[in-house]
Amino acid sequence: MESIGVLLVAKVIPYLEQELNKRYNLFRIWDYPHISQLSTQHVTSIRAVVGRSNAGADSHLIDALPNLEIISSSSVGVDLIDINKCKEKGIRVTNTPDVLTDEVADLAIGLILTLLRKICESDRYVRSGNWKCGDYKLTTKFSGKTVGIVGLGRIGTAIAKRSEAFNCSICYYSRTQKQESKYKYYPSVVELASNCDILVVACPLTKETHHIINREVINALGPKGFLVNIGRGKHVDEPELVSALLEGRLGGAGLDVFENEPHVPEELFRLENVVLLPHVGTGTVETRTVMADLVLGNLEAHFLGKPLLTPLV
Ligand code: NAP
Repeated sequence: MESIGVLLVAKVIPYLEQELNKRYNLFRIWDYPHISQLSTQHVTSIRAVVGRSNAGADSHLIDALPNLEIISSSSVGVDLIDINKCKEKGIRVTNTPDVLTDEVADLAIGLILTLLRKICESDRYVRSGNWKCGDYKLTTKFSGKTVGIVGLGRIGTAIAKRSEAFNCSICYYSRTQKQESKYKYYPSVVELASNCDILVVACPLTKETHHIINREVINALGPKGFLVNIGRGKHVDEPELVSALLEGRLGGAGLDVFENEPHVPEELFRLENVVLLPHVGTGTVETRTVMADLVLGNLEAHFLGKPLLTPLV
């Protein structure tokens, strides 16, 4: 398989890059800022693209690779891959579902607790020596609150299960009511936001879910409500979120993802009622390693003519 060209379009963990380099003829996109800098011989040798949540393959890249057969993403979200183009051209697409579900759900709960109990802020209070001047202010209880989930899929369900352990009531919105679910369903995000304390976004990014968290939803959540986003940054109308936080129309926000990563609106830096994470939902050694193994397994299955492990297209 050493002669098969694989194009890596994102920085991945060293283990994945090293394994790809051992098994295939690996091209790293950052060595070729424009695809035309690759020789025709190299371009025609590329049969696979490997990406992740921050880099996929748009129609331009797909068209530039005439012998592309498979795109394997080390992520469950495939919003940066032109799926329609892949279907049209018969290019296979794989992602890494399930293996990251627990990790992202754990982080969502961590974000909720950090936000409501002001864990980062309290830590800064101790470090700055301010504790000697008096007790830290009171915060907000998580146990028993109502958690509203946008997108009751694998990750949404895992967040719901964890929240149940905190005696929370769970409700959700998705395009379809899940018949097998015991949680309360609301047929719109605004109704969900009006009826919960903490709104957690866990749906895929599509044309429909772009800015699904808009001014109306934020106002429905209100000054005592909290928004937690572990989906994608573009789910949230960020300027609307910033103004709602500055104007006190929203209680707080815990964000793992942003509209224009790694750029974060600087107005958020001075707010106490936000927790800001650098898109680390899956960012542990354990989970990134199993995601890498799934990428490698899918590529191997494809090139050996075996069934793909996690086919999406
Ligand atoms: P999943 O199992 O496919 O679940 C997605 C859920 O969203 C489904 O319940 C689906 O239900 C719902 N949904 C789809 N379109 C919707 C719409 N237009 N409006 C409302 N709900 C909609 O996916 P998953 O494995 O849970 O992953 C969810 C997303 O989390 C990924 O796509 C990814 O973007 C994000 N993620 C983020 C991180 C991170 O590091 N922060 C890590 C992993 C994943 P219906 O079909 O009934 O609508």
